[in-house]
Amino acid sequence: MFRIGCHLSVTKGYLEMGRTAVSIGANTFQFFTRNPRGGSAKAIDPEDVHKFLEFSEKNNIKHILAHASYTLNGASADPSVRRFATETMADDLKRMEFTPGNCYNLHPGSHVGQGIDEGIKLVIGMLDSVIEEGQSTKILLETMAGKGSEIGRTFEELRAIMDGSRMQDRIGVCLDTCHVFDAGYDIVNDLGGVLDEFNDIIGLDRLKAVHVNDSVNSAGSHKDRHARIGEGNIGLEAMVRIINEPRLRKLPFYLETPNELPGYADEIAVLRSHYVGQ
Ligand code: FE
Ligand code: FE
Ligand code: ZN
Repeated sequence: MFRIGCHLSVTKGYLEMGRTAVSIGANTFQFFTRNPRGGSAKAIDPEDVHKFLEFSEKNNIKHILAHASYTLNGASADPSVRRFATETMADDLKRMEFTPGNCYNLHPGSHVGQGIDEGIKLVIGMLDSVIEEGQSTKILLETMAGKGSEIGRTFEELRAIMDGSRMQDRIGVCLDTCHVFDAGYDIVNDLGGVLDEFNDIIGLDRLKAVHVNDSVNSAGSHKDRHARIGEGNIGLEAMVRIINEPRLRKLPFYLETPNELPGYADEIAVLRSHYVGQ
């Protein structure tokens, strides 16, 4: 089944997000656990969650994906920035257990001049301190474009984080099409080769989600500016190959394109019309 949704900026509660998703033809969605710039999260209303889970069951909504605040940087040189990231993520993971069995997407962080090895070490330390035994949520490390000192520009860096963690069976990857393209992986002309490389270095069994975004910039630009589907340098044809690729087509896809809800509804309809089979 084609599992497609978009990032919802509404944070009025789970039921509201579920209804919004259905209204634009989605059967999944991504959401921020709190204000994207960090800060405190609204208390979870168990009644709202209960209604949402019922609604999801009836309306075939699955694989909702939480996105951590952009400001979390567990690889910072500043201990107070690291502490904030750690405390926020720990709280997010506790909240995620209200909707068990879903994924939590995280930008690994930026090493801000300390070097990639030190950055990776710090990220591993954070993950190991916040992921608790018995939780059902999988943490997804997002593939990054490599702007500034971002960690996660290469598959090797993501693999190194997983290898270093005691909790590696709880960690997976979310592939962002704009980010890998900007990072220099040629998903337009050699999607098969990129996936082979992903498989060799990380393992495709660890790939749990795909962010579908076109890119304003060119391959290898390390910029990270999302474009609407078909309006960037990846293009609609390549995107259609991505959603139908046998190694990807069963994964959940999430749009993070510059759109309001009507634009997302259009993109979902376009991609759905190009998805082969059910
Ligand atoms: Fe992201
Ligand atoms: Fe993304
Ligand atoms: Zn991005």
